[in-house]
Amino acid sequence: MSARVNRTTRLVRRILSVAGLLALAGGAPAQAPPPQAPPPQLLLFHGHILTMNPGDSIAQALAVRDGKIIAVGSDREILRLAGAATLRIDLNGRTATPGLIDSHAHIADGGVEELYHVHLGDASTVAEVVRRVRAGIARLKPGEWLQGDGWDEGKLAEKRYLAAADLDAVSPKNPVWLMHTTGHYGVANSVALRLAGITVHTPDPVAGTIDRDARGIPTGVLKESAKNAVLDLIPAPTPEQRRAGIMHSIELLHHEGMTAVKDPAIDRPIWNAYRQLLDEGKLKEHVCVLWFAGSTLASARAALQEILALPRPPQSLGDGRLLSCGAKIFMDGSGGGRTAWMYQDWNMHSTGIDAGNTGYPAVDPQVYRQQVRLFHQAGVHVGTHAIGDRAIDWVVDTYAQVLAETPRTGLRHSIIHANIPTDHAIETMAGLERKYDAGYPEAQAPFMWWIGDTYAGNFGPQRSLRLVPLKTFLSHGIRWGGGSDYSVTPLPARFGLWASVEREALLGTYGAHPFGTAESIDIHAALRSYTVWAARQLFLEDRIGSLEVGKDADIAVWDRNMYDIPARELRNLRCELTIVHGEVVYDAAHP
Ligand SMILES: [Zn+2]
Repeated sequence: MSARVNRTTRLVRRILSVAGLLALAGGAPAQAPPPQAPPPQLLLFHGHILTMNPGDSIAQALAVRDGKIIAVGSDREILRLAGAATLRIDLNGRTATPGLIDSHAHIADGGVEELYHVHLGDASTVAEVVRRVRAGIARLKPGEWLQGDGWDEGKLAEKRYLAAADLDAVSPKNPVWLMHTTGHYGVANSVALRLAGITVHTPDPVAGTIDRDARGIPTGVLKESAKNAVLDLIPAPTPEQRRAGIMHSIELLHHEGMTAVKDPAIDRPIWNAYRQLLDEGKLKEHVCVLWFAGSTLASARAALQEILALPRPPQSLGDGRLLSCGAKIFMDGSGGGRTAWMYQDWNMHSTGIDAGNTGYPAVDPQVYRQQVRLFHQAGVHVGTHAIGDRAIDWVVDTYAQVLAETPRTGLRHSIIHANIPTDHAIETMAGLERKYDAGYPEAQAPFMWWIGDTYAGNFGPQRSLRLVPLKTFLSHGIRWGGGSDYSVTPLPARFGLWASVEREALLGTYGAHPFGTAESIDIHAALRSYTVWAARQLFLEDRIGSLEVGKDADIAVWDRNMYDIPARELRNLRCELTIVHGEVVYDAAHP
């Protein structure tokens, strides 16, 4: 950053700041507060501060007062602002970035899973899954539910789904539900199937699949809406468990330099948990939530009632800490379960064809369109889950239609995941961003890594190359929010930064790079998708996402400079310090 600010500009800025409008000058080069202002409470100096301002400038130091950044510049400019009581943090040449932002992470549900369920994300054989289930059952009374999460057939040596028959011998008296890492399907044991009334005679529900063996007998795997028959029987977490889950996730976020998150698909109990944590002063994170709209017009109206009773973004509760951002709809299913809505048949094991299976919509497409119109006309942001090419086309065409009917800029309707967009979808997204400030992808590069082996097998060799086309987004001027979809993939954003550049599958079952590297982007663009661009999708772009005067002092300090290290090392970045609103919330030296 340059200190060369001409006198007139400086004078204008001083007038602005005296008028209490300092934030208006955010994004400008180095700038000092007026001399009569009280000294900063906090200084960071002697660092490489990646500001993420429009010029991607790197500063040495910054100053913070009352949770806001009041100056950014050279060591000399900033250190002279210090008062006797100013806390000075010597970065010793380390790198600082804005606190990283995840535009799609289920931190409330993921925290509950982490604290109270059996973990299967690192299980590599069916026998290991069974061993963990047996150990979990040993702690339960007969009849109590055992829940597990995170399995993925692509990570199991057997390369097959789990089945009720795998689980029954260790769970004769307890119902078991093991959710797949995608959250779109899972496996029940026979006790659970019996309780849910699922037999050989049960037909597939609308928008759901009961997996069956060659004789037509249910295997235990239930996909999409078919899993609801079991999920509806499982007792909900208690309010205390919900709050503990959120706190657990926020602690992990702070360990990873992450200070803002969009939690998509919440309901009233989750909102109440966030609200109580906020009221107790424990919510030290920016959280923007989407209310789950369900699959009918009536359920969408019920979600709208909740939304209309709360402040609209960018208004928030708790000074930017909790925002009711809008509504979440599922257009289709999963690339893991081969249920996402595609134009062509799904593949199996890469080159095989799942003949006749093009997936399906999760909601009637005409009902979806009415749901979106309902929210849009009420001025409410919509985020739609869309994985398959056909689902994405339907979503972007719906957005284009309601925006043409009722033009309105700034609602930022999003395409959540946007895994495999057609050329038409890409052109439409670019147009909607330009014209209406809407149509943004909220993309998950880590899918290519964590569930990359399953994905490569299902999308097949040709389609895989089109997956998560970040370079094409860039070339079309499309901005997107980065994210993990935690607990689909692990929460740390460093994995997403790395995957955006490297596009590498976890195990390499179909080669290390089944998605190619033609759509790789560099770390500068990747970091933008986890900072300034993601901030937009949380309606917080005036407060967070860059280190500029007037913005919140949300800062992450790293052990290495992500602009300098080899891309393959991005996943190993270590956060050493996290600051939210000027308060140190994580310090690796004093954990
Ligand atoms: Zn999700």
